[in-house]
Amino acid sequence: VKTLVWFRADLRLDDNPALFSACQQGGVIACFLRPKQQWLQHDWGYNRIRYTERSVLDLQTELQQLNIPLLILEADDFRQQGSLLINLCQRLGIAQLFANEEPELNERQRDLGVQKACLEQGISCQFFHDQSLLPLGQVLKPDGTAYRVYSAFRKQIVQRIEQQPIQSLPAPSIQNKPELNCLLDGLPLIQLQPEFDVIQQRWSASEREALNQLECFTGEAIGLYEVQRDYPANEQGTSQLSHYLATGKLSIRRCWLQAQQIKISNPAQAASAQCWQDELIWREFYRHLLVLNPELCRYRAFKPVTEHIQWRQDAEALTRWQQGQTGFPLVDAAMRQLLTTGWMHNRLRMLVAVFLSKYLLIDWREGERWFMQHLIDADLASNNGGWQWAASTGTDAVPYFRLLSPYRQAERFDGQGEFIARFVPELAHLPAKQRIQPKGYVENYPAPMTDLKIGKDRMMARFKALQ
Ligand code: FAD
Repeated sequence: VKTLVWFRADLRLDDNPALFSACQQGGVIACFLRPKQQWLQHDWGYNRIRYTERSVLDLQTELQQLNIPLLILEADDFRQQGSLLINLCQRLGIAQLFANEEPELNERQRDLGVQKACLEQGISCQFFHDQSLLPLGQVLKPDGTAYRVYSAFRKQIVQRIEQQPIQSLPAPSIQNKPELNCLLDGLPLIQLQPEFDVIQQRWSASEREALNQLECFTGEAIGLYEVQRDYPANEQGTSQLSHYLATGKLSIRRCWLQAQQIKISNPAQAASAQCWQDELIWREFYRHLLVLNPELCRYRAFKPVTEHIQWRQDAEALTRWQQGQTGFPLVDAAMRQLLTTGWMHNRLRMLVAVFLSKYLLIDWREGERWFMQHLIDADLASNNGGWQWAASTGTDAVPYFRLLSPYRQAERFDGQGEFIARFVPELAHLPAKQRIQPKGYVENYPAPMTDLKIGKDRMMARFKALQ
């Protein structure tokens, strides 16, 4: 029996349920179908696209060593993927198609279509639970509805894992090489060309490196995570594993288990390791939410009443925010970190999201899109969750009246203006206090683009009007 493993956001050998199950039976061929148009429709930018392509190439090399060929094919959008898969299965004499589940709506609808088409053609088709700690859609309140509050969700996850510990799978062993010969003639096979611009050079796309980095982080820095994670100048303060998790280079269960191991072997670090696991549960929370509330994938606010907020249309203000020219140093440093590295520290993601949606009163969807277009770790569930949290349109979001002041946040989390100086060189010559809040004119640096008090009052009025 020949099995086709269809890789999507699971570009790894380790703890990969679809790949592992296929290899138990032998005769494995793998494929990746590049849906370039679909990616653009989903607001993916070149950072995420190029990074994914590099990750696919790394996977191809790793699979080769197991004698599993990875066919890379062009399929503009999801509709084409279905027919291409069937074509591929028929040509290669494939009896079963295996893939790992994805949480997003379009992806799930596509998979339903593929399942149906396979059924019609007599091909068995199986999807495996993969992108979360517990199967998506299966963490529900006792009344059968979805959790809407993180703390209750977290409690449930922890309890369930205590009752039934998380399991992981090893990478498969070497397989017998399948014969492909001339069966592939006429298929839209492509050779991916890795592109290394300045941003790509920063981010490894290798599975081995991903596992190494996880090992290093949990071996050392995890013990300080609790106290260091909020300081953006400290690049070692967080794991920087999000790009690997977004492309599936790293398994979420592997991350969890590694942290769990630290909790057992090193009790002094247990609280900090738990704190890191709590962040993994935020990721989990947003993924489960997405599956149970597919409207989130259609640019809808979680709280319908917030659809009535009158957002401001201000193209110039939006551009200044995007380019890091707001005149608020920590906001600008953060936005420039995104532009120059493809990544942004979590505390700053919260800050700039509140700044755009609250102080500037610009629709959070503009910010969500900009993040998707630039983040190396762009991920619909976490990005949408983060934006709706900051804009107070989401479930269990920050209360609308609790703002993050750009100056206060800088005092607390970049007290010496070290991070600001790194990304806003115009301010680097100033003493720390002035980097955080410049007094008067600074050459080449804009004055604050808005009055925070006016911005706050305007936002409060619009939100109050909803009550
Ligand atoms: P660590 O602090 O080491 O955390 C470990 C892992 O836990 C992360 O890699 C990530 O997978 C997960 N995680 C941590 N914090 C969160 C969180 N608040 N929500 C969901 N998952 C979390 N994360 C993305 O992966 N992709 C996105 O597109 C994305 N957009 C965001 C947008 C906004 C407005 C906000 C506030 C947050 C967003 N996040 C997103 C979550 C978070 O900022 C990043 O996951 C984190 O900064 C990545 O750095 P790290 O790997 O060093 O994280």
